[in-house]
Amino acid sequence: MLATSEKANQALTKRHNARLVLKSIYDREPISRADIARITNLTATTVSHVIGELLLAGVAEEVGSISTDRGKPPMLVGLCKNARHVIALNLAQNIFRGGVLNLRGEVLHQQSVPAEGLQGDQALATVHAMVDALLPKVNQPLLGIGVGAPGIIDVEHGVINRAVNLCWYDLPLAQILARRYDLPIYIVNDNQASLLAEQIFGQHKNTPDLVVIRVGRGIGAGLMVDGQLVRRFGAGEIGHITVVENGERCSCGNFGCLETIASSRAIVQRTRQLLPHHPTSWLSRRAALQGEVDIQSVVAALAAGDDFLIPIVTEAGRALGGVIAHLVSILGTPHILLCGSVTGFGRTLLQPIEAEVQRRSLTGQLRRPQIDFVSLESDIIMLGATALLLRNELGLF
Ligand SMILES: [Zn+2]
Repeated sequence: MLATSEKANQALTKRHNARLVLKSIYDREPISRADIARITNLTATTVSHVIGELLLAGVAEEVGSISTDRGKPPMLVGLCKNARHVIALNLAQNIFRGGVLNLRGEVLHQQSVPAEGLQGDQALATVHAMVDALLPKVNQPLLGIGVGAPGIIDVEHGVINRAVNLCWYDLPLAQILARRYDLPIYIVNDNQASLLAEQIFGQHKNTPDLVVIRVGRGIGAGLMVDGQLVRRFGAGEIGHITVVENGERCSCGNFGCLETIASSRAIVQRTRQLLPHHPTSWLSRRAALQGEVDIQSVVAALAAGDDFLIPIVTEAGRALGGVIAHLVSILGTPHILLCGSVTGFGRTLLQPIEAEVQRRSLTGQLRRPQIDFVSLESDIIMLGATALLLRNELGLF
C-alpha cells in the first residue's frame, strides 16, 4: 500500500516538474536549461531530464545557443508552437465560430455558421457539423475541444444549466461531445472564456485578480480571485441585478435589471425611441438608407457626432458603474476589463463607469481600480476556450 502511494507521489512530482519546466519555456523562450533550473528551483539533472522528454514529445526544440564569456555556450530551448492543436468553439453569439488553434493561440483554420434562431437539437447538430468539418484540418496531436458557450454553466461537469437563446437546459454538452469524439472536452461560459483569454494571451498575462465584464446582448462577468477562476453556480451573472426599482421588464421575467439599461439590446431600443426626434442626425440618414438600427450603427453614429446618443450611453455607463462598485467593494479587484459590442463607445462609456465606481465604493476611492477595455478582439472567446485546454491538459497557467 505504502509502495503504491509512494509511486503515486513520484508520478505527481514528475508531472508537477514537467509542468514547471514547460511553463518556463512557454513564458520565457528561448531559455537555457540553467535559467529554467534557477526559475523553477529544480536541480539541473531534473530539468535536463524533463527537457529530454519534451524534445522527444516534440513539444520543445533546441533553438541555438548564446555566446558567453567562458565555457561552452548553453543551448537554448524553445516551444514548438505547432506541436499540438486544439479545437475551440464560440457558441455565444448569433454566429457560431470554430477554429483549429496552436499552442500560442494562433488560429490556423476557422469557420463560422449563422446560428440566429438555432435551438435545442438543431443547435447541437450544428456544433457536431462544425467539429466534423474542423477535424480533418487538424494535422498534429489534438489536445481536445474547448467550448465557450452562453448562459449558466457547471464548468466542473461540463453541463450547460441554462442557455435561454439556444433553448439548452441541463444539457451535458461535455459528455455528449466526449462520447462522439473521444477527446478531452472543457466548457466555460463566454464571460469566463473572455477572462481566461485576456489573462493568458492578452495584456493581463498572469494577473491573479481580474474581472472581465462582457456587455453585449446580455451582461455577465468572469471573475478570477487569487489566480482561481470563480466557478460557483451563477457567479458573475451581474446582468440581472436590479438597478431600477419597478423598471422595465427584463428577459428573465424580473424588472429593472442591469440588462434593461446597459445591454446592447437596451441601448438600441432607446436609440430607436429617440431617433424620430432627430431626423437630421447621421443615424437617421443612415437608417433611411439601410433600414436597420443595430449596436454597430449606434456606435458609428456616436463617433460621427450624434450627440443625442450621449445621455443613453452615459446612463448605461452609470448603471454599469453602480454594479461594478459593488464588485470592487466585495472582491477588492484592482483590474476590471470590459468587452463586447458596446466597447466601441470608448471614453463616453468609461467615464461614467469610473465616476460611479469612485462615488459608490470606498475601496474604489482608496485604491482606484484600473477600468479599461480588453486588449483582444474578435477571437477572444475561442482563445479563452483554448486557454482552458492548455491549462487543463498541459498544466500551463
Ligand atoms: Zn433580468
